[in-house]
Amino acid sequence: MESQKKYEPKFSFEFFPPRTPEAAGKLQMTTESLAKYNPDFFSVTFGAGGSTRQRTFETVQDIREKTGIEAAPHISCIGYLTSDIKDVLNIYKAAGIKHTVALRGDMPSGLASYGELRYANELVEFIRKETGDHFHIEVAAYPEFHPQAPSPKKDLENFKRKIDAGANSAITQYFYNPDAYFRFIDSCERLGIDVPIVPGIMPIVNCTQLVRFSDACGAEIPRWILKRLQEFGDDRKAIRDFGIDVTTQLCENLLGHGAPGLHMYTMNQSEASEAIWKNLILSKRRSEKKVSAG
Ligand code: FAD
Repeated sequence: MESQKKYEPKFSFEFFPPRTPEAAGKLQMTTESLAKYNPDFFSVTFGAGGSTRQRTFETVQDIREKTGIEAAPHISCIGYLTSDIKDVLNIYKAAGIKHTVALRGDMPSGLASYGELRYANELVEFIRKETGDHFHIEVAAYPEFHPQAPSPKKDLENFKRKIDAGANSAITQYFYNPDAYFRFIDSCERLGIDVPIVPGIMPIVNCTQLVRFSDACGAEIPRWILKRLQEFGDDRKAIRDFGIDVTTQLCENLLGHGAPGLHMYTMNQSEASEAIWKNLILSKRRSEKKVSAG
């Protein structure tokens, strides 16, 4: 973990573009609530194959205007022509956006062609070729490895390709086993990867949804967490309290070992992310108190 300790921690929250006016209203309340914590940036996802291209941009603009906080649009390349990607980059650039999260994306069902760029490293290379150093580029990292990766070694090499292509930093897929992250960082260090790799944190609010997401993205839910969540059944308050507790401890552990910040997958809800945040501020105050008392 040594290489990560030199970076100033960055804190961020991720949203997806709302589909309805009601959802947009709710997102506005969420972003305004979370803006109070003065995060380094917000980010907004991008539907692979272009399903939310316009809405990603509009959401980013809305957040920037209403909160005054930097918002980074995600961009994915699967199913796109390079001319389309160039258009998107030009729109972002003209709007003064300087931060983006560059991804391959997943092939939506029914889409016939992969597009011209097959992997995220090619997208990073393309962004650098077209826009030089204009963008701060984040890429995705997988401490428990990407589900399609042929092996952990290959996945790490593929991660390195994105950094070598010019990515500035990375955000991980969510995980609940901190050792997976610590080992991943150690492997990155051995490969000479030297950028901040910020842990992605998924607050636990709904067991069924968490199982579905984790199946799709390859994140492991430790057995002890799953068993307890299943036992809570429909008791949403018990799930919420347990989830906040488990995730707060995970965040404390990661930050305590030198993780360079946290990126929260909010699912457009502020409550759990806010509760974890407050706990972390409290725990920071507690440890400062101990130091000054000792
Ligand atoms: P890549 O880095 O291209 O990797 C994909 C797979 O291909 C891996 O198995 C890798 O080992 C392999 N690979 C990579 N490069 C090569 C190569 N050159 N040759 C051979 N194999 C290679 N999805 C969205 O649709 N929209 C979003 O907004 C979005 N935001 C995300 C944000 C974060 C922080 C994370 C962690 C994920 C996000 N995703 C998003 C999901 C992401 O698109 C998927 O996980 C997708 O399956 C992989 O994207 P990637 O950029 O990691 O792909």
